[in-house]
Amino acid sequence: MTAATRLTHTIAETRAAIQAAKRAGKTIGFVPTMGALHEGHLSLVEASLKACDHTVVSVFVNPTQFSPSEDFDCYPRELEKDLQLLKKLGCWLVFAPSTDEMYPNGSETLIDVGSVAGPLEGDARPDHFAGVATVVLKLFQIVPADRAFFGQKDYQQTLVIKQLVSDLCVPIEVTICPTVRESDGLAMSSRNAYLSPSEREQALSLWKSLQLAQQLVREGMTDVAKIKRQMQEIFNQHTGANVEYIAFVEDGTVQPVETITGPTVVTLAVRMGKTRLIDNLRITVD
Ligand code: AMP
Repeated sequence: MTAATRLTHTIAETRAAIQAAKRAGKTIGFVPTMGALHEGHLSLVEASLKACDHTVVSVFVNPTQFSPSEDFDCYPRELEKDLQLLKKLGCWLVFAPSTDEMYPNGSETLIDVGSVAGPLEGDARPDHFAGVATVVLKLFQIVPADRAFFGQKDYQQTLVIKQLVSDLCVPIEVTICPTVRESDGLAMSSRNAYLSPSEREQALSLWKSLQLAQQLVREGMTDVAKIKRQMQEIFNQHTGANVEYIAFVEDGTVQPVETITGPTVVTLAVRMGKTRLIDNLRITVD
């Protein structure tokens, strides 16, 4: 590593570096990640680099947001490669703690952000958002940034973070950045690496179905049940694709809508073989 990008593993050295930068009058942007970085993550880093003097990225695969049956053990860990990418962009500090550093013996506190965490991903992954909210609040305590950057790709997560920041008076401005997609439209995700070539092809059905929803609404269809049926037909053509949910919610909420009358987010979770993919699209009525 050059002196330009510092790698820290402990809370104490991370805090000390940030406090010194703040005393020197620098603004801090923060991008929490689980690593295995792709262009989606890097777009958040670039947004932070533009907006703040110093950018901090955390790389931590957080065990408390995975259920025992999920992919925590095999989640891709590529710290060396991640560091090279972050160094190239001009990231100031990378915080890559161990699990023991983040959760020493005796850690028990869990953050429950309430109803926003209940449906959709909350239904499918009951303890997921408590794990996310808890680790993000811990990271915010360790990295008291001016601004933090999250991706629209994880729509419900953005609502959870905003609720957390608002309810617990966290003095960090949250910015949500657009979803970065592969050239054919598949939303970038560290989990795409799990897909076999044929699953990768079928995974495009998420984006196709979201685009179909947008098109149908543009053509005047407002009945959500009808739109969902047509979206489902796209997945029916793929034997490996199992839809967990397709939901239409009022933009900025998890409130389901039955008829589209204003800005709406279509969000879905689909299993492609063993890989669970999520995506969403904000659609508007003309
Ligand atoms: P993760 O490493 O999956 O926890 O993601 C870290 C951050 O990157 C989260 O704020 C995600 O929403 C964001 N992110 C992941 N994929 C994308 C993407 N394709 N486009 C934009 N942001 C993304």
